[in-house]
Amino acid sequence: MKQLLLATRNNNKKLELQELLAGLPVQILTLDAFPHLPEVEEDGSTFAENAAKKARVNAAMSGTVCLADDSGLVVEALNGQPGVYSARLSGPHGDDESNNRKLLQMMEDLAEDTRGARFACVIAIATPEGKIATVEGICPGSIIREPRGRGGFGYDPLFVPEGFSLTFAELTPAEKNRISHRARALAKARPLIEEILSL
Ligand code: IMP
Repeated sequence: MKQLLLATRNNNKKLELQELLAGLPVQILTLDAFPHLPEVEEDGSTFAENAAKKARVNAAMSGTVCLADDSGLVVEALNGQPGVYSARLSGPHGDDESNNRKLLQMMEDLAEDTRGARFACVIAIATPEGKIATVEGICPGSIIREPRGRGGFGYDPLFVPEGFSLTFAELTPAEKNRISHRARALAKARPLIEEILSL
């Protein structure tokens, strides 16, 4: 059976990706199957650069077709921040809570009609020979003034997706996964995987 390597050590992402790829006639591997592969530094200035680098390096080094993603929050009134720095907004070891506090502080003076934001996720699929394709999924919404809800991770308690009144952290995982940036990118990635692996 053909193999596909998921380049993530984040367990939540692994489970989400595996669920969406269910039914494809491929054996899904994770980085656990290649313990010698080095951590790829996310030093690009866009989600696409980071996702492509992770997919390209891991595919070349493992000899297996590889799927990698990069995601984050984009706030229009902050000129796109935190963007690729989403995980590190409050410092190199910023945890979710301090990142959320920092974001609220940066947006303190922004009125309700200028609190628009979107989550973005770029998925890249690379072959060991260097062929690469990328797709993007977006979930538009806005940032509220105080965290609400206990589910999810990252900026979920501050993000209300467009057309909803609850935050991502108040929605059930199934509801979030129906509309999330990651689910939307994965839906676009599936036909690409079928094409690249000739399934
Ligand atoms: P990465 O794709 O693992 O580099 O994630 C980047 C960062 O973006 C995460 O640490 C979160 O802060 C944020 N992020 C990405 N996706 C989500 C999401 O679905 N909910 C909340 N925060 C997210």
